[in-house]
Amino acid sequence: MAQPAIIIHGGFFSESSQSNEIKIAKQEALSKIVKDAYQFLQNHTALEAVVYAVELLENDPLFNAGTGSQIQSDGRIRMSASLMDGITKKFSGVINIENVRNPIRVAEKLMPYDDTVLGGEGALMFARENGFEYYDPTIPQRIKEYEAKKKSQALGTVGCVALDVHGNLAAATSTGGKGFEIPGRISDSATTAGNFCDENCGVSCTGVGEDIVRVALATKIVTRVSDGQTIQQSFKRSFDELKPFEGFAGAIAIDKNGNIFHQDSFPTMVFASFDGSEMLVFN
Ligand code: ASP
Repeated sequence: MAQPAIIIHGGFFSESSQSNEIKIAKQEALSKIVKDAYQFLQNHTALEAVVYAVELLENDPLFNAGTGSQIQSDGRIRMSASLMDGITKKFSGVINIENVRNPIRVAEKLMPYDDTVLGGEGALMFARENGFEYYDPTIPQRIKEYEAKKKSQALGTVGCVALDVHGNLAAATSTGGKGFEIPGRISDSATTAGNFCDENCGVSCTGVGEDIVRVALATKIVTRVSDGQTIQQSFKRSFDELKPFEGFAGAIAIDKNGNIFHQDSFPTMVFASFDGSEMLVFN
């Protein structure tokens, strides 16, 4: 029996455009969700637990995923989410889906199919056929930001990595994107650059998707751990690759031994982790 462990993130916090009150609210939300999801993980698989945690994060309008997603340049919200199972190495995701409450649940529904990543219209059709009802994820704050043509700069994508009692890992990530992007732009969050997991390590990323894709961040971190590097070495080496072009990214991880790790190229990623004894919350 392994000691379960979990880490969640809520993207980046912007010191310049977000108040201290929002920071405290995010700390409280992340502490509550990590405890709740850890409890859930006691008698569920890592795969079930990461979906559970990401759903809670998507439902919290403080974060840029599900309810509270950022608005794109044409005034619409398109969301992306993905899920990866460390044992089966199955990856499923939805890209640029509109008008559903929980994109991560649609990704979960897709996992048993042969076609596991769907985009745009097709993703929405699949969701409706599978009972996901119409839901508008727009919140007034995002409309205000959009009308002021101002990005919230929150980059508040959410993610979770968990290790369950059987020693299995899973990773999940969900985003409303960068805000003001050209319609059709693909985020890293529903690709293996932004969310990756095998039997040795799981990673979820946040930050500028284009930067994350350039170094295939999540896949590289996991692969280096699987090839024998420690989680610290792997993070250092992978984040070094972002430096030549000042890439902006953050990542959370757990390895098969229950080591929890996080790093960011700009130290304001918000996260919380719990391994049954020590709870860490960003400050
Ligand atoms: N990675 C996301 C994207 O580029 C944004 C974020 O992490 O907040 O779509």
